[in-house]
Amino acid sequence: MSAPHEGGCSCEAVRYRLTSDPLFTNCCHCLNCQRQTGSAFVINLLIEADRVELLAGDPQPVDVPRDDGSKQRIYRCPTCQVAVFSEYGRPEVRFVRGGTLDQPSGITPDGHIYTRSKLPWITLPSSAPAFEDYYDSKVLWPPASLERLRTVLAPTSSDA
Ligand SMILES: [Zn+2]
Ligand SMILES: [Zn+2]
Repeated sequence: MSAPHEGGCSCEAVRYRLTSDPLFTNCCHCLNCQRQTGSAFVINLLIEADRVELLAGDPQPVDVPRDDGSKQRIYRCPTCQVAVFSEYGRPEVRFVRGGTLDQPSGITPDGHIYTRSKLPWITLPSSAPAFEDYYDSKVLWPPASLERLRTVLAPTSSDA
């Protein structure tokens, strides 16, 4: 990574820096993501929570219902309410929203997921794999990312 990935909300009360490359970057075309963003898809940079360094502000969690009955925790700027990252169950891994980066063009999705609900006028590039629903990360992720994930999800004394 040539330069740190920095980003933030619209009012600049929340600023963050990613201290390494993400584990993996998903472009999700599911209906939940379409509704949450009001757009065609979301770009999620999956990265260890402790590699998301907050430079300013304190994003507030909002638990948002999903179609399957579960809740997704989305962190928003307390002032302008822009969503900067979210969690899917495990707080050890953040899903940083690619559109909040200062330079979103620096990110290219590693995979497209839930293409079964992809809007029909979007043509996916052939350069990244695409999946009707999800994929097996053990197959798709680089070994170094799988090792990082194992490390961050390893039980510690603070886990019951
Ligand atoms: Zn803000
Ligand atoms: Zn989604």
